[in-house]
Amino acid sequence: MKLTYKQRLFLWFGVILLLFAVTLTLFERSRERQYKTDLMIQQLDAYAGMVNEALGQGRPLDSLLALFPPDIRVTVLDRAGRVLYENVFGDRGGMENHADRPEIIAAQRDGQGSSVRLSATTGTEYFYFARALGEGYVRVALPYNIQVRHFLRADNGFLYVTLLMFLAAVLFINYAAGRFGKSIARLADFATAAHEGTLEDADAVFPDDELGKVGEQIARGYMALTTSEKRSAQERERLLQHILISEEGVCFYTPEGAVEFYNSLFLQYLNILSDETPIQPDNLLENKLFAGVCAFLSLPGGENYYETTLEKQGRHFSVQTNRFADGSFEVILRDTTKQERTQQLKQEMTGNIAHELRTPVTSIRGYLETILEQPLDAEKQHHFITKAYRQTLSLSELIGDMGLLTRIEEAPHAFHREGVDLLQVVEKVCADMEIPLRENAVSVDVTIPPGTMVDGDKNLLYSIFGNLMDNAIKYAGRGVTIRTGCYRTDSDFYYFTFSDNGTGIADEHHLGRIFERFYRVSEGRTRDSGGSGLGLSIVRNAIAFHRGTISAKNRPGGGLEFLFKLPKQRL
Ligand code: ADP
Repeated sequence: MKLTYKQRLFLWFGVILLLFAVTLTLFERSRERQYKTDLMIQQLDAYAGMVNEALGQGRPLDSLLALFPPDIRVTVLDRAGRVLYENVFGDRGGMENHADRPEIIAAQRDGQGSSVRLSATTGTEYFYFARALGEGYVRVALPYNIQVRHFLRADNGFLYVTLLMFLAAVLFINYAAGRFGKSIARLADFATAAHEGTLEDADAVFPDDELGKVGEQIARGYMALTTSEKRSAQERERLLQHILISEEGVCFYTPEGAVEFYNSLFLQYLNILSDETPIQPDNLLENKLFAGVCAFLSLPGGENYYETTLEKQGRHFSVQTNRFADGSFEVILRDTTKQERTQQLKQEMTGNIAHELRTPVTSIRGYLETILEQPLDAEKQHHFITKAYRQTLSLSELIGDMGLLTRIEEAPHAFHREGVDLLQVVEKVCADMEIPLRENAVSVDVTIPPGTMVDGDKNLLYSIFGNLMDNAIKYAGRGVTIRTGCYRTDSDFYYFTFSDNGTGIADEHHLGRIFERFYRVSEGRTRDSGGSGLGLSIVRNAIAFHRGTISAKNRPGGGLEFLFKLPKQRL
């Protein structure tokens, strides 16, 4: 059985106290005994002195003995131990030599001696005292009976007092051990609860003493540690969650290169990059693709960051490696294909814009140079100025279109959606284009019912129909008919058709690309007609802004037909 701290404390102090009490008692008792023996000896010595005196004066000893205790034995011996007188046994001649008696031997040696023993002569026990006096020894003895024993026995008073004090001390030790034990027991309970994870606030309350204070400090330190441990676990959890849903493939490695954690994207990217499938993050550094990372990691100290790019199956990846202070490191794989594509598109775009600007600007410059350098009559001058003016118009149109396209793409919040009556928009487009319509003998057949309320931006909706109508006038040919109407509705959308019965786009390859920026079916022809190549891009983006879609197809009877949907006004 395992003793509690309190019991052990109690036991230790109890044993020490007991030893102390027993030693003290024994010592005291032996001292008392010695003292009483000395008293007894003193008394017997006095008797011996009196006997000696009587002997010296030649007085008969028997009269003296009357004064002594009745059962006293007085023996007078010569130096050789022969008994000269004996009061109890008168027959001295029969008595053996007493030289070998311990008290006589002691008296011979020290002048006096005592002993308690059985009398060889009488067979009873005596307390003997002998003293060397004059020519021999006087020995006085008292029977070692109950009275003498009683007299010589130590007084029990001290024993009782010691016992009482011992009991009081035991009680006190019990109390003190209890107090100490309580602090230790609380500390032990606290440690157990902490170990088992069942710690409550009450476990951290300690008694008001030094041990309690130590316990309290340990508890406080422990609590702070657990709180910060909890917090860092939560932060780690959050970080891992973040990494799990990150758009980057991340893998953490220990300083020895063992995998600690990686997200699914990391594995996915790794397997896109590697020829050997399936590849695991564990053997990443053995893969020749990552030789650069491996070389970077084997460099002692120095840089902590290394970045490289990898390309596979048309996809671009950036590989970043961060080395941390403890030697652990992370590898991040990022799919940069989209950025690369955007970058490429931007470069193309810049090229396209430069290309688009070059032609009108060169023309304007040419016209102006002609006017400035050559002597021209007023009519010719007017002709060139008109031409230059037309080019500036197409430049303005280009700039306007580019601005609109950028706004739809990058600042869609600048447009406001409201309920718009689409018939009114289309009628306004027709009215605004009345002149070119008439000039090209184009007729328009609008079957959109009145009250077709679209949830959209009025200006953008105008741009959609404006561009489509402008294209039909420009590219479908003279004398065509434009038809537009709503051919279907559902709970959320109106479905529209916009068609002409003109030339259409015979080549399917072109048809698939007409919504691209700056794409023209026939460079020369469309340029002459003043198109920027952005018209259908604007239409597609404006429809996409309204959560709609658009497609184009050649009509069976000739001409181009656009099908698109626009959202209904929300009621
Ligand atoms: P632009 O602004 O130069 O008119 P678009 O993007 O509007 O350019 O049109 C792209 C190309 O689609 C034009 O170059 C033209 O060849 C062709 N196209 C557009 N609409 C029609 C149409 N109704 N009939 C035939 N071809 C068309």
